[in-house]
Amino acid sequence: MTKSDAEAMSLRRAGDGFRWEGVEHRPYKDAESAPFKAISRQNLFSDPRLLGELRYFEIEPGGFSTLERHEHMHAVVVLRGLGQCLVGEKIHALQSHDLIAIEPWTWHQFRASEAAPLGFLCLVNSARDRPQLPSAQDLAALRADPAVARFLDGNI
Ligand code: MN
Repeated sequence: MTKSDAEAMSLRRAGDGFRWEGVEHRPYKDAESAPFKAISRQNLFSDPRLLGELRYFEIEPGGFSTLERHEHMHAVVVLRGLGQCLVGEKIHALQSHDLIAIEPWTWHQFRASEAAPLGFLCLVNSARDRPQLPSAQDLAALRADPAVARFLDGNI
């Protein structure tokens, strides 16, 4: 890469609809790998000189991210819309500019409202472990709380 190429890469202008120039608009993850619905992903910053990556995820109305946990952390900033997230055993309503940290080994899932999408920045370690999905036993333990069961069923 030449110096001018590097300089050109340093600014990526925002386009319409929470898209950025030169950033690929991708599916959230492999469709077969885990349950999720109606999410796109843009990797905004990823560079071997940086220990973190910044991504933008957008969940369409009624969609949700995978229920998962892992050793690495997330730091999330909501940029648009409305939704809720489950973090551990707590359910939080989310709106623009809210910040939320996902601690290591904490079950988490994001859901957009039925009426609006939920778009958020997510800062994550660049070197990270693979997410774990809940076992039947894990799910039963989570669902023991009726509010969590309602959330997992999409009744938010
Ligand atoms: Mn995660």
